[in-house]
Amino acid sequence: MHSTKKVYKFGGASVKDAEAIKNVAKILSNVKDESLVIVVSAIGKTTNAMEKVVNAYAKQKGDALSALNEVKNTHFEIIRDLFGEKHEIYELVNDIFVAVDWIIEEEPEDPYDYIYDQIVGIGELVSSRILCAYLNECNLSSQWLDARDVIRTDNLYREAWVQWDETIDNAKTVVNPMLEKGGFVVTQGFIGSSSENFTTTLGREGSDYTAAIFSYCLDAESMTIWKDVPGVLTADPRLFENVIKLDGLSYKEAIEMTYYGAKVIHPKTIKPLQNKNIPLYVKSFIDPQGSGTYISDEVGDNYPPIIAVEQNQALLRISTRDFSFVAEHHMRHLFNNIAEYRLQVNMMQNGAITFSVCVNDIDDRIDNFVKNIEQEFKVSVERNLELLTVRHYQKELLDTLKKGKIVLLEERIGRNTQIVVKNVPMMIRK
Ligand code: ADP
Ligand code: ASP
Ligand code: MG
Repeated sequence: MHSTKKVYKFGGASVKDAEAIKNVAKILSNVKDESLVIVVSAIGKTTNAMEKVVNAYAKQKGDALSALNEVKNTHFEIIRDLFGEKHEIYELVNDIFVAVDWIIEEEPEDPYDYIYDQIVGIGELVSSRILCAYLNECNLSSQWLDARDVIRTDNLYREAWVQWDETIDNAKTVVNPMLEKGGFVVTQGFIGSSSENFTTTLGREGSDYTAAIFSYCLDAESMTIWKDVPGVLTADPRLFENVIKLDGLSYKEAIEMTYYGAKVIHPKTIKPLQNKNIPLYVKSFIDPQGSGTYISDEVGDNYPPIIAVEQNQALLRISTRDFSFVAEHHMRHLFNNIAEYRLQVNMMQNGAITFSVCVNDIDDRIDNFVKNIEQEFKVSVERNLELLTVRHYQKELLDTLKKGKIVLLEERIGRNTQIVVKNVPMMIRK
């Protein structure tokens, strides 16, 4: 029997508690005649909770053990709800947690990012074990796959890059035979492994990307991500009223809006799918029959205004110290440093003596960058800014968005505009 390969991704919200996991099983009970790889994220906000464990341990701030115990308790409560008091899942999950117990018993000597990846990815290992066991419990035959046996990365911990050739080979030798056996294959988002077999992570919210990696390597017919929203909307419904669902999006539109902060899809997800022309469906796990959003090459480019908001932005104004123009050799020097300190650039503008650049404010990257260039340049840094990207804008919408904000940098290309803003308290005349 020939069956088509598909990849489904269930995020943290879709498996947040026992009821949610039962709902996922219900969605999966309607899958017929398909070879399905299921990529699952950590349960609910587990990754944030595991970050607390890492910080308590690696930075010696707080109590790592009690932070870990909280995570354990939440998981064992869900397990009890799903499986009752006795089931082999208790031991499987316990073994995963014990690995963290061992790590935090030792003095933290390794680099922070390495420790982070060894601890935080546990959330996905546990959730995938639970989901897989529960599907089998529901007679939906499923095999558990360790994503680290497939996704090979470099060792840039917390932001690892996929080594595609090896990953493609692994997918063929490891995943295809599992799919041929029949039933579902359940694996984890977010994690991979380095050539030394250490766990790496692909960046926060990276499970969508994992699903796209599997889709690419397996030549899937389509990929579906199941979210708590009806599909891709014209803006984040947590931030805006009157948003509407987009029935279709081109890959280009999707990559642009997710790159600039539309958090519904991880931005790295689009490239692997586009490269093999694999359509992406964004659907609601609350209303699985709903039409969702269809992302592919075939979708035209007639869109309503779409807004993406990226928080935690910093604006750097970099000026020459002697009033000379920002010339080509300055630019070369600045860009070398931007690459060296891994500043993620979202917007830039060059003037006579000042180069302005808006970047994501991550860890101490900006401070290190500034330290290295401040002998040659005067640098001012403004933090806690927002980058608003409005695609297919209408003037009235821009005016409303700017109310109560100071615009620090603005750029328009065609009908797309980007503004870097800071909030100002509305002053009321006494
Ligand atoms: P997951 O459960 O897969 O981790 P996320 O929470 O990362 O899902 O993504 C879904 C959330 O993305 C939604 O609840 C919504 O608040 C937010 N979001 C941001 N921008 C958009 C958008 N343009 N359309 C839909 N949802 C959006
Ligand atoms: N659990 C990871 C995170 O919260 C990955 C993901 O959910 O996509 O960042
Ligand atoms: Mg998420």
